[in-house]
Amino acid sequence: MGELLANTLPGMRDLLPEEIARWQSAEDRARRIFARYGFLEIRTPVIEATELFARSIGAETDIVGKEMYTFRDQSDRSVTLRPEATASVVRAYLQNTMYRGGGVTKLYYIGPMFRHEKKQKGRWRQFYQIGAETLGTDHPAADAEMIETALRFLESMGIKAELLINSVGCADCRPQYMDLLRQELRKHLPALCEDCRRRAETNSLRVFDCKVESCQPYIQKLPFIADHLCGDCAEHFSSMKSCLQEAGIAYEFAPRLVRGLDYYVRTAFEIVSGELGSQNALVGGGRYDGLSEVLGGPRVPGLGFALGLDRLVMLLPEDQSSGWQWKPELFLAYMGEPAFRKAQDIARGLRQRGHACYYDFLAGSLKSQLRLANKLRAEHVLIIGKDELERDRYSIKSLKDSRQWEVTLSELESYLQAQAKGRAV
Ligand SMILES: [Zn+2]
Ligand SMILES: [Zn+2]
Repeated sequence: MGELLANTLPGMRDLLPEEIARWQSAEDRARRIFARYGFLEIRTPVIEATELFARSIGAETDIVGKEMYTFRDQSDRSVTLRPEATASVVRAYLQNTMYRGGGVTKLYYIGPMFRHEKKQKGRWRQFYQIGAETLGTDHPAADAEMIETALRFLESMGIKAELLINSVGCADCRPQYMDLLRQELRKHLPALCEDCRRRAETNSLRVFDCKVESCQPYIQKLPFIADHLCGDCAEHFSSMKSCLQEAGIAYEFAPRLVRGLDYYVRTAFEIVSGELGSQNALVGGGRYDGLSEVLGGPRVPGLGFALGLDRLVMLLPEDQSSGWQWKPELFLAYMGEPAFRKAQDIARGLRQRGHACYYDFLAGSLKSQLRLANKLRAEHVLIIGKDELERDRYSIKSLKDSRQWEVTLSELESYLQAQAKGRAV
C-alpha cells in the first residue's frame, strides 16, 4: 500500500451523513419559502472568468486581493472558483437576456463558494450560501420583500434574528458625502490603523468595517451617509421602512452599515444573531443598481442577499434534524441463504412501493442483526428464518413498543402503508 491520501485540503471539510439531515432541512425549507415569494432556482457554474469577480467585487477588496482561488486552466485562461454568487447570477441574467420584455426576475441559488481565508474556527474555505436576487425593479417594496423573505426563512427554522438597515445613497448624493468623509479621515490619519489609512483614500466607506480598537473613537465621530442622502434616496429609504412596518418587521437603523463599492446603492442590510458571537452576521444584502452596467449590460436595477448556510446549520438544534434523519421502516433479519434471497425479494417489492427497507449483507447471528436494526433506529424488524419461509408467515416486531406478531406478506404491506399514512398526517 502506498501513502494514505486521507486528508482534505486545509480549511475544507466533509459533510457526513449524520450531519447532512440539518443541511437538507435548511435547503428544503429555503426552496419552499422562496417559492412562496416567487423566486425560481438558478444554478450557475462554480468556476467563472476571473475578470467577472475582479470587476464586480472590486480589486480593492480582501476577497479579490487575497482570498480567491484563481489559476490558469489548460487554455491558459485565468479562472476563479466563485467567492460569491451575485456576480454569476447577474452574468447569467445578462447572458440569457432575461431582461428582455422588461419584467422583474426573481432568482435564488444554493451552493458552495470558495475563499482562501485565514484559518479560523467556524470559517471554511469551501462554504455554502443560500441567496436570492431580484432584478429589474428599484421599487422600495422589492427591498422590503427581499428582507421579509430572508426573515421568514430564518423564522421557519426557529431562528431568532435582528434586522439592521441603512441607506448608502446613490451616484448623485454619495460623491459629496465621500468628500466630506475623506476630509474628516485626513484629520485623523496618523492615529488610524494601516488598513484605515489605505482605505481613507481608496475606498473610504470601508473604514466603517474596521474592527481595530484604537480606530473606533474616530470612526464613531465620522459623518453618516444616511444624514447626507439626496431627496430620491431619502424617499426610497423611508418608503422601504414603511413597507417593513406594514409587514410587521422590526428593524434597527445601523448608520455604520455600509458596502464599499460604487455600484451598491441605497438599501444595505444585515440580519444578525446574538447566538453567533462576534461573527454574528447570518445574512448580508443590499441594492446594486449599477452592477449590470459594470458587467457590460444595460442599466438594470437589482438587489439581493446571501445567507451563510454553515453558520445557519450551527444554530439549528439537534432535535430538529431527527425528523429528517434517514431510518428504515423495515429491517429484514434473515437466517441462511434461502432466507437472504427472500429478504431481498420482499425488500425489493416494498422499496418499489415507496418503503425504506434495509438488510445487512454481512448478516451474522440474529442478535447482531437486531443490534444493527436498533442502531439504525429501524421502526420494525421482520424475521425470516427456515420456519417462516416454509409457512410464508413472518414475525414482525415493532422496535418502538416491542410488540410482536405474525403477518403474511400482503398483511405486511398494508400495515406499512397504514403506518406511512399515519406519519404523513
Ligand atoms: Zn441619492
Ligand atoms: Zn482601522
